[in-house]
Amino acid sequence: MVLDYIKRVDPEVAGLIDAELKRQQTTIELIASENFTSRAVMDACGSVLTNKYAEGKPYKRFYNGCDNIDKTEELAQKRAKKLFNMAHANVQPHSGAQANMAVFMAVLKPGDNVLGMDLSNGGHLSHGSPVNFSGLYFNVKSYGVDENGSLDYDDVLKKAKEHKPKLIICGASNYSKIIDFKRFRQIADEVGAYLLADIAHIAGLIAGGVHPSPAGFAHFVTTTTHKTLRGPRGGIIMCDEEFAQTIDKAVFPGMQGGPLEHIIAGKAVALLEASQPEFKVYAQNIVKNAKALAQGLLDNGMEIVGGMTENHLMTLDLRNTGKTGKDMANVLECVGITANKNTVPNDPRSPFVTSGIRLGAAAATTRGFDEFAMREVAFIISEAIKNSENKEVLEKLREKSLALCKKFPLYETMKEG
Ligand SMILES: *Cc1c(COP(=O)(O)O)cnc(C)c1O
Repeated sequence: MVLDYIKRVDPEVAGLIDAELKRQQTTIELIASENFTSRAVMDACGSVLTNKYAEGKPYKRFYNGCDNIDKTEELAQKRAKKLFNMAHANVQPHSGAQANMAVFMAVLKPGDNVLGMDLSNGGHLSHGSPVNFSGLYFNVKSYGVDENGSLDYDDVLKKAKEHKPKLIICGASNYSKIIDFKRFRQIADEVGAYLLADIAHIAGLIAGGVHPSPAGFAHFVTTTTHKTLRGPRGGIIMCDEEFAQTIDKAVFPGMQGGPLEHIIAGKAVALLEASQPEFKVYAQNIVKNAKALAQGLLDNGMEIVGGMTENHLMTLDLRNTGKTGKDMANVLECVGITANKNTVPNDPRSPFVTSGIRLGAAAATTRGFDEFAMREVAFIISEAIKNSENKEVLEKLREKSLALCKKFPLYETMKEG
């Protein structure tokens, strides 16, 4: 079986991987940044490509023996450019945060002004949080969302005029509305800033045609490959031809050593998958399912930041329940639903406690959940929160979620043990 080799060499690790497979199969995954990648992607990532050093770019390497590696990486680049309609792609960043770091390195000097979305309003750590390199080495000001959970573009413009950033970052880790990339570009042009669109969360929606693309508007586009795009864990940077050299240099030798060519092969496979007609249907289903989940929660008396979602995710606002995100995420885990605590805008509680829970539909949609199933998930969540002290109710809800997992099996041919 899959784990035969590991089992022979290291039964301890094999046992843990087995247990994790079982956990993924028997729980409902609602963490908005997670997904289930295909067996094909996993095979690429577990291949002999892990053995190869390939510092440099395709056909311009510092090591010999890179023929096959070159062709693989070139395929990944071509597919990324085509899928996202961008002139240049660097598929080497080990992660989304590193993709952002490379853009900072390419266009900024330490101390330069940057405008990004505030972390507690839905932005990402790498968009200027004071505990991240981006906030430590650059002079960052941030914008947030209004009381309806929507971006206030006039406020972004006002802050841009005040702060005069060299780089404006748009894109979020927790924002449930469509992002207006055109508007962001107008703002960037008005103050002479570069625009970075970080599409980590919505890359799969853009690839599937259910969210507008930043192509033609952003100077730089960064993404993760493992969220809605459903590939291996990693990052990609895309840009216009004029920035190609600077970006490539920032990634290597600027920031990284040898690229992870096995993961790049996995990215190539995922990008091919994301260009198929089935993926469009998948992306449409993600949004339908997210809306069904949101509607179900609203119908059960729950509150959602900004109301109805327009993409794959939403944040439950628990302030009216008096309960915390931390406690309720644990209660959801008891009933077989995995989600993460998250701050709501102007959260009175700390990021370690929070008043919200972020929910996403991408992973459940991959295993085949439909709108009817998502309604049931909404019921389980609402009942679990209302009855968080009632063990008997929670046990019954756990059975319901397990039944859903059985109805929509995951990695069926991958047996444990
Ligand atoms: C997830 C995410 C990242 C970081 O990705 P990692 O691979 O975890 O480094 C960057 N930006 C945004 C908007 C994200 O949501």
